[in-house]
Amino acid sequence: MGDTSLYELLGVDKNASSSEIKKNYRKLAKEYHPDKNPEEGHRFKEISFAYEVLSDANKREIYDRHGLKGLQEGADMGGADDLFSQLFGGFGGMSREREKRIPEIVIKVEVSLEDLYNGNRSIPTEYNRTQMCGTCDGRGGMSGATEVCRTCEGRGWQVVLQPIAMNILGQVRRQCVSCSGRGIIISESDLCTECNGTQIMDRKHTVEVHVEKGMQHMQKIMFHGEGNQNSKGQKGDVIVLLIQREHPVFERRGDDLVIRKVEISLAQALCGIEYVFKHLDDRDIVVRNKKGEVIKSGDVKGIVGEGMPIHKNPFEKGNLYIEFVVQFPTNNFASKEQMQKLESLLPARTPFVMPIGEQVEEVDMIDLEPRSSSDSYGGGSSGNYYDADYDDDSHHGHGPSVQCQTQ
Ligand SMILES: [Zn+2]
Ligand SMILES: [Zn+2]
Repeated sequence: MGDTSLYELLGVDKNASSSEIKKNYRKLAKEYHPDKNPEEGHRFKEISFAYEVLSDANKREIYDRHGLKGLQEGADMGGADDLFSQLFGGFGGMSREREKRIPEIVIKVEVSLEDLYNGNRSIPTEYNRTQMCGTCDGRGGMSGATEVCRTCEGRGWQVVLQPIAMNILGQVRRQCVSCSGRGIIISESDLCTECNGTQIMDRKHTVEVHVEKGMQHMQKIMFHGEGNQNSKGQKGDVIVLLIQREHPVFERRGDDLVIRKVEISLAQALCGIEYVFKHLDDRDIVVRNKKGEVIKSGDVKGIVGEGMPIHKNPFEKGNLYIEFVVQFPTNNFASKEQMQKLESLLPARTPFVMPIGEQVEEVDMIDLEPRSSSDSYGGGSSGNYYDADYDDDSHHGHGPSVQCQTQ
């Protein structure tokens, strides 16, 4: 790599020995030490950084091979990328002062699933943003009353040394302490009466958020130049993040809609259903299943083209799915005679053959919650039947321990 700027800073050749580097660094450090040469503090920091890298064989090798970028990548792993990229701005002549981007304002706006389905909704959204002070035109003081800050030469920031990743002492930009980042010095009496010298003002602002058909939950809508404004008049952006409220009936999955757990009776499951639901645009949709079709619990049926409209192509739509849950009748819902009648209508059962011999046990079946592995042996209010009742039960022969559990 062609980058030799760190060697140039120390005034040595690329092949310089470590003692040569050390010698030159000491000489330059004395010359540019802030005590002796306060005007050249910036230079002193650059020299220190160059020595920091070149006096360490490992860092020097990384720098020789991959330049400052290589060192930066090493620093990235330590999570100091931002600090390091600021550092690169610190070398005189190597890079220009970069325009600092104004951070975006992010606003969350809640919308209903109906809004996303129907579109055509405009939501006025108010927020606070900074605006350049109009009274002083962002100068912070009256015209002619300001003076460029000498500490930072009007930049508003200073380069300071601080440890970054992996024992590397790096140069980092900090807001100038002399002028609090304004880049100018204004005497107390000349401060702008409107902004009090801050150059910017907080103002309320409103944007109209247009919700279009088919927009998604978490969709970003960009408003360029509607964000914070700095004292130089530059404007940042606003990002509106759409947040969809949960819907009591529909669940959205991509462009599809799902109606979950529609409860139908056993009669409907066996003999056919007619079902009505209100769609997101207020239409009443009537659903019938095919003649003779049996619906089982957990079955999912679909209606093509009744899902969400596709954003930017709203005449096309996803599908709608309905998940069914069959509600069975309660215990003893029919008389013995009715049961026989019912059974005669249902497919015949496989004949039952009673096994014979001494190995046959007849047991009772009850409602019993499955045991979870974390909650050992029954748990809860039902107590610890395993330990307490084990001995007892062993005498019963065919009396399983669960019999002691009947509520
Ligand atoms: Zn300053
Ligand atoms: Zn002002």
